[in-house]
Amino acid sequence: MCEPLKIEMSLTERLQEVRASIPEDVTLVAVSKTHPAEMIREAYDAGQRVFGENRPQELREKYTLLPHDIAWHMIGHLQTNKVKYIAPFVALVHSVDSDRLLAVIDREAARNGRIIDVLFEIHVAVEETKSGWEPDELRKYLAEGTWRGYGNVRIRGLMAVASQTDDDGRIRAEFTTVRELFLELREAYFGADFDTLSMGMTHDYPIAVECGATMVRIGSRIFGARDYTNTNK
Ligand SMILES: *Cc1c(COP(=O)(O)O)cnc(C)c1O
Repeated sequence: MCEPLKIEMSLTERLQEVRASIPEDVTLVAVSKTHPAEMIREAYDAGQRVFGENRPQELREKYTLLPHDIAWHMIGHLQTNKVKYIAPFVALVHSVDSDRLLAVIDREAARNGRIIDVLFEIHVAVEETKSGWEPDELRKYLAEGTWRGYGNVRIRGLMAVASQTDDDGRIRAEFTTVRELFLELREAYFGADFDTLSMGMTHDYPIAVECGATMVRIGSRIFGARDYTNTNK
């Protein structure tokens, strides 16, 4: 009998394929949410050191189980009362969406004798449920200046999630909006420290890279489909 071969790529091979598909100076955040520590370990053994998670307790648990030279990124919506779980070790919080959250990260960072790197999440997608700052809202907030008093956070750039759509033109337009806002704010407020533009996921990262992403967050293309036991994606 003659039929096509179905050869499953290993996690290591998928990781290498993704790595090879993005420029060397773009940071790959391997989004390991919902996947067990053993799979992260496999990616780690293949050389990956930056992982992204979206639930503080899950992040903390994986931190305790895995080697401590991993840079753990918090990429999901973060409630202020959960910052304490990750403040001792988190390398970058992508999802700062309010002054209140930034203030709590600053306080918890100080408590741990740390300076925590953060990104502002920008809302550009059409879906109403996605969190983040509207560009004008963030401009107003930065002009007002409260953030200047937070000595234990370092604002490194912007993060965005584009619309869930097959319309590449729309995705490109959204990433371009974020890119332009990034350049504007870097020039107006932050300078060289503001060097991180986190955008692009499995279905849209090639477009994000074209639009200037310095960091992409890729989950399912590396780890396979996620099995959600509840709806908190
Ligand atoms: C889950 C998630 C990703 C990764 O999504 P994939 O489509 O699996 O690559 C990236 N960014 C954020 C904010 C996420 O929540």
